[in-house]
Amino acid sequence: MNEALASHVARVQTQIMVSLAGRLAERRARRCDDDGRRCEFLLSPQQLLAAHEAGHGAVGVALGWCCHELSIVPERDVPVGRGRGYLAGFASVCPAALVEDVQRAGRRRKCIRLESDAQTVAQLALQLALLEPDYGWMAACRIIRRLRAETEALIEAHWNRVKYLANTLEWRKTMAQSEIESCLRGIQTKGTKK
Ligand SMILES: [Zn+2]
Repeated sequence: MNEALASHVARVQTQIMVSLAGRLAERRARRCDDDGRRCEFLLSPQQLLAAHEAGHGAVGVALGWCCHELSIVPERDVPVGRGRGYLAGFASVCPAALVEDVQRAGRRRKCIRLESDAQTVAQLALQLALLEPDYGWMAACRIIRRLRAETEALIEAHWNRVKYLANTLEWRKTMAQSEIESCLRGIQTKGTKK
């Protein structure tokens, strides 16, 4: 694999892991005691949403990307996933070099159709599957399973930080890059990916 392709594959894998992290962090939050026993009381929808968005942000930062905005303020006029839902919250996560572009695009998010996390994961995994023999859904599912296990391990390893970020987000409702980074200090596990 040449260098440009390898770096594209690494970016796509990171994006898949960031997209998977929301649901996985929500699931981890339900198991709220640290021995991993199931939580005996229910978390509020706001707490679960904050855990979801914090999961996207924390996994992105752990993998060397930037999380420059988190929000749990619903935007009912922004459809997500073929119009069946609206934007309940979001995490803006990307390589550091793209922050400005993504921020500009973010302001246009009312005009573009956003994909759900599951749609993003499926589409990107199918791209990666083109590089693995049998080149189809079987390969895509294998890739998703592998990256899901890696994402779960990352969330588990940094659960205290993810929880701290989620609690702060629940209280603040929106957070900017500097506040997010101060909650996630020390979480970065890999060199910055461009
Ligand atoms: Zn999400």
